[in-house]
Amino acid sequence: MAKTEIDVICREVGLRDGIQSLKTFVPTAEKISWIRQEAAAGMPNMQVCSFVPPKLLPQFSDAAEVATAAMAIDDLWVSTLVPNLKGAEAALKIGVDEIDFMNSVSESHSLSNGRRSTDQAFAEFERVRDLRDAQPEGKRFKLAAGMATSFGCSIEGHVPQKNVLKAVERFVNAGVDEVMIADTVGYGNPRDVHQLFSQIIAEFGDTVLVGAHFHDTRGLGLANVYAALEAGCRRFDASLAGLGGCPFAPNATGNIVMEDLVFLLEGAGLDTGIDLAKLLPVREIISRNLPEEPLHGTYEKAGTPKGFPFAPAA
Ligand code: ZN
Repeated sequence: MAKTEIDVICREVGLRDGIQSLKTFVPTAEKISWIRQEAAAGMPNMQVCSFVPPKLLPQFSDAAEVATAAMAIDDLWVSTLVPNLKGAEAALKIGVDEIDFMNSVSESHSLSNGRRSTDQAFAEFERVRDLRDAQPEGKRFKLAAGMATSFGCSIEGHVPQKNVLKAVERFVNAGVDEVMIADTVGYGNPRDVHQLFSQIIAEFGDTVLVGAHFHDTRGLGLANVYAALEAGCRRFDASLAGLGGCPFAPNATGNIVMEDLVFLLEGAGLDTGIDLAKLLPVREIISRNLPEEPLHGTYEKAGTPKGFPFAPAA
């Protein structure tokens, strides 16, 4: 179920993007504790796993169990990443709120990351959409599509904005509910982010939700958040302690840091529904299970400024 009375939606993606390329398996019970504790801190939305063949990503061999536990939590919107119809069928069995379809704007990234062309990916998306539409009304999952490499690709380099707009248009016309504009390898800068989000929101904002997924690879993650915010975006992915990365972005830091994102948004007067004092202790689950991973974040180090005005409840 979704929590509706907030100004801006933050989504935790650490349990998917954060751990997908790590060798250390995070035990199922620990993943579930992470989800429960973060939900108790007010996190409204979490992408909790990926329904992929366990042979490919053993980290998600417990996806069904993790997603089932997440769905039992009140007021938490649960989404899961799927690369194909088979993954969507597994997610549908659990009854998750939202299915996120894996897709890249860049042809080369699509081929290397998903082993398929963008046209093949789109054809698979249509199968997932048909699965959604075959469900009785009221039982349909929300269907989102990722727009990975929207600002650049480590194989192709610069990705023109017109390519992103064309890709978004194709998915909107095919009936997607939401698009996630993703800076997968941290090539974006605030000027380009503002331009692209302004265009996408102007053209498609009335039809679909437009979300932002930034990585902090080159230190511009939060600046990009603010640029997207000014363009009208109210939906942001981040991961606790900035866990994560991309196997195709060597030496990259991970997703933007959730704690710092919440601090930025609250300072901008936008209610996130998240209690930072309750959120910080959840980092312990990461350090306990992944002691070799660096924990990022400056809010955690410096704390709350004296007299800081958290946004009033929406
Ligand atoms: Zn990512």
